[in-house]
Amino acid sequence: METFTKPFTRQEPIPEEGIADAVEVMRSGALHRYGAQPSRVAALEEAFAAQTGAAHALAVASGGYAMGCALRALGVGPGDPVLTNGWTLAPVPGAIAAVGARPILVEVTEDLVIDLDDLAAKADRAKVLMLSHMRGHIADMPALMAICDAHGIAVIEDCAHTMGAAWEGTPSGRWGAVGCYSCQTYKHVNSGEGGLIVTDDADLAARMILLSGSYMLYARNGTAPGEEVFARHKGIMPNVSGRMDELRAAILAPQIRDLPQQAERWNDRYRALEAGFRDAPGLSVIPRPQAEAYVGSSIQLLADDPARLPPFIEGCLARGVEWKWFGADQAVGFTSAHRHWEYVEAQSLPRTDAVLARLIDLRVPLTFDLEDCAVIARITSEEAARHLV
Ligand SMILES: *Cc1c(COP(=O)(O)O)cnc(C)c1O
Repeated sequence: METFTKPFTRQEPIPEEGIADAVEVMRSGALHRYGAQPSRVAALEEAFAAQTGAAHALAVASGGYAMGCALRALGVGPGDPVLTNGWTLAPVPGAIAAVGARPILVEVTEDLVIDLDDLAAKADRAKVLMLSHMRGHIADMPALMAICDAHGIAVIEDCAHTMGAAWEGTPSGRWGAVGCYSCQTYKHVNSGEGGLIVTDDADLAARMILLSGSYMLYARNGTAPGEEVFARHKGIMPNVSGRMDELRAAILAPQIRDLPQQAERWNDRYRALEAGFRDAPGLSVIPRPQAEAYVGSSIQLLADDPARLPPFIEGCLARGVEWKWFGADQAVGFTSAHRHWEYVEAQSLPRTDAVLARLIDLRVPLTFDLEDCAVIARITSEEAARHLV
C-alpha cells in the first residue's frame, strides 16, 4: 500500500539574500529598529504599505499582538463586546480577551466564512468586528461591509491566512479599518514570529505606532503620519511594547517581495489536491467564489457523515497523511472550536458546530511538490472509499 513520508510542517529555507542580510544585522549589533540607521523595519513597512496599497503599515512582534494593538487603538477596553467568528484560531479570541473585552461569537457557514445573517442579527451588540479570514476563506466583503457600515461597526481583518489574497481585486486587510497579518513560521511569510498591520486612518496609525513602543522616535517609522497627528495621541496611548526587530525585517524583506509568486506556487498545489479530492466518496470540496483570489496554503473538506471520520483519519495517518479534524472532543495540537475556549462566555452556535463536526483540514507546505499532492489525493480517496461509504 502506498504511503506518504514527507512532514506536513516543514518550511522552505529562508531566501539566501535574507540570510545574508540577517548576518549583516548581527555583525552590526544594531538589532533594535530605532537603533539602526537606516532601519530595515521601516523599509519593510514602506514595502508592505506599497504592496497592499495602504497609507500606513506597522511591523510588530506577532499576529496576536497586531490584533490586540488594533483593538486598543479603536478604544476597545475591559467589558466591551467584540463580534468575531465562532470558528477561528485561538489567538483571535485570545487577542480580545487580552484587552479584557468579551467575544460575541458569530456563526460560520458551510463555505467556512462568517454567516452574514447571524452577523446582521448580532450587529447591534458591538461596535467592533474582529473578522477572521479563517483558513483563507473570504466572505462576500461588500455585503459584510454594508452590514457593518449600517451599524457603525469598525472592522479589523485577521489576515493570518490571507496575506496575498484579495476579494474583487482589493487585498484582504484593505476592506476594514485595520488589517492584521502574521509572519509566524506557519503563515505565508516566515520570520519565526512577527506581525504586520495596515490602515489608511492616520489617527489609528499614530495610536498603534505609539502603542507598539516607539518612545519619542515614532517619526522614524516607515509610513508614520505627520507630527500633528501624533500630537493628538502622545501621552494618552500607553507603551505596550511589541516592536519588530531588524533581524526579522531582514529575513522578511525578500519574502514580502516574492509573495505573489509564492501564492501561485501554493495555488498550483491547492488545485492539484482539490482536483484529486473531487471524486473522493463521502467528502466534498469547499466551493471558491469567483470574486476570491485565495492563497491555498491549506485545504478543507466536508464529510457527509461525521461519525465515520475517526477511522478514516486514522487510516490516512497510518499512511502518512495528516488530516486534522475540527470536530474532535478535545483540543489536539491546535484549538479552533469555541467550546475549547473556556475563558469565553459559552455561546450557542448550532450551525457552526454542525459544520465543524464534518470539517477536516490539511496543511499544504511549499516543500510538497505536485507529485506529493497526487500521492496525498490517492491515499485520501482510497481511505475514503474504505471508511466513508
Ligand atoms: C496564526 C494566526 C494568528 C496570529 O498568530 P501569531 O502566532 O500571534 O502570529 C491569527 N489568526 C489566525 C487565524 C491564525 O492562524
